[in-house]
Amino acid sequence: MTKPDITPPPLRNDCFALPAGVNWTPVEDALSLLRDRLTVVAGVETVPLAQATGRILAQEVIAQRSNPPQPNTAVDGYGFAGAAPDGPQVMPLHPGRAAAGIPFDGLVPAGHALRVLTGAALPAGVDTVILEEDVTVQDGHIAFHGPLKRGANTRKAGEDVAEGDAVLPAGRRLTPADLALLSATGLAEVPVRKVLRVAVLSTGDELVEPGESAGPGQIYDANRPMLLSLLERMGFEAVDMGRVPDDREALWTCLNQAAERADVILTSGGASAGDEDHVSALLRQAGAMQDWRIALKPGRPLALGMWDGTPVFGLPGNPVAALVCTLIFARPALGLLAGEGWLEPQGFDVPAAFEKRKKPGRREYLRARVRDGRVEVFASEGSGRISGLSWAEGLVEIEDGARHIQPGDLVRFIPYGSFGL
Ligand code: AMP
Ligand code: MG
Repeated sequence: MTKPDITPPPLRNDCFALPAGVNWTPVEDALSLLRDRLTVVAGVETVPLAQATGRILAQEVIAQRSNPPQPNTAVDGYGFAGAAPDGPQVMPLHPGRAAAGIPFDGLVPAGHALRVLTGAALPAGVDTVILEEDVTVQDGHIAFHGPLKRGANTRKAGEDVAEGDAVLPAGRRLTPADLALLSATGLAEVPVRKVLRVAVLSTGDELVEPGESAGPGQIYDANRPMLLSLLERMGFEAVDMGRVPDDREALWTCLNQAAERADVILTSGGASAGDEDHVSALLRQAGAMQDWRIALKPGRPLALGMWDGTPVFGLPGNPVAALVCTLIFARPALGLLAGEGWLEPQGFDVPAAFEKRKKPGRREYLRARVRDGRVEVFASEGSGRISGLSWAEGLVEIEDGARHIQPGDLVRFIPYGSFGL
């Protein structure tokens, strides 16, 4: 058989450069669009304080009680009416004592001192405390060296939080320390957002489940376990919708089920405009697809759409791109939907341990980690290199313009922890 004489198109020099004449949305603009358009969808429920860690406050919380509720002593020692002047002081010791939870009931006469223990409410006639280590006790008297200011070694009522103060804002994701604050200020239960349910599904004929035997041309589904655990770590409820082949009918059914079971859907794979890119095709068909051409590397393609009123994030199939798109776009968007508000990941400027030339046009995220105060990047930028994701402990963000980074130059490092992982 003779081969037809077809001239292949010439390989273009710029085949990996940005298409000319097409407007790419800068990352910042894409983020502001999401920020402007998405609003909270999670409902509200009340939970006991002990179960509230990691939950998002639905309302501002007001202190029901001051902390501390009354003036008390910050140390073990002796209390009296201050101040005490310069020089040696001797005071008769008043009988009795005040301890935390066991107040002294009575008046301490002027010029007398009472034994007080840390946390004890200051009795009438006491506003100043001398530390026990600085005191000699003998013959029913205490002796110490002045001066001592009025109010020394005591805590004022409400000096930390006053009753009626706003202690935590709506949208706050509660930490263990927040539970201490809420409990101390008299709260036993808190109004929180219902946990946002996020469905995850993988698409691709090539995918098989971990544990199954994989034939030639098949690969294990890497994105789904990653995305499900990412979402759990970020404090959302991950709903596992499994794998779907590159089949429009099957994907249709799966999206319907996901829209019923979850508030948001994350898909991976099939988001470009190719023959087997059924996620974008279906979303386009549903009429609510935004083909986001975001100037981001690694990231293309990202398909955003609505399925039956449920937002769908069509992530790229490449695991590196899927992770970067989730952290940069899906996570702040999910935060808004969940009632957490818009979250800017906290980055740090760290000297680079690498050299890199970057062309203008796209913002880039490199897999990175900090060692000995310098940030290293993974040797390969290949978007299928899953080992680099696992090697990394965060991302280096390089702004949209051109840049030639030399070792020692400051670059922005965003630890995975800043994304809530
Ligand atoms: P796609 O976006 O569907 O064109 O996929 C891009 C690349 O990512 C292909 O090499 C896919 O085989 C790969 N890929 C897609 N989904 C997954 C997945 N869940 N786990 C690992 N690799 C995937
Ligand atoms: Mg695919």
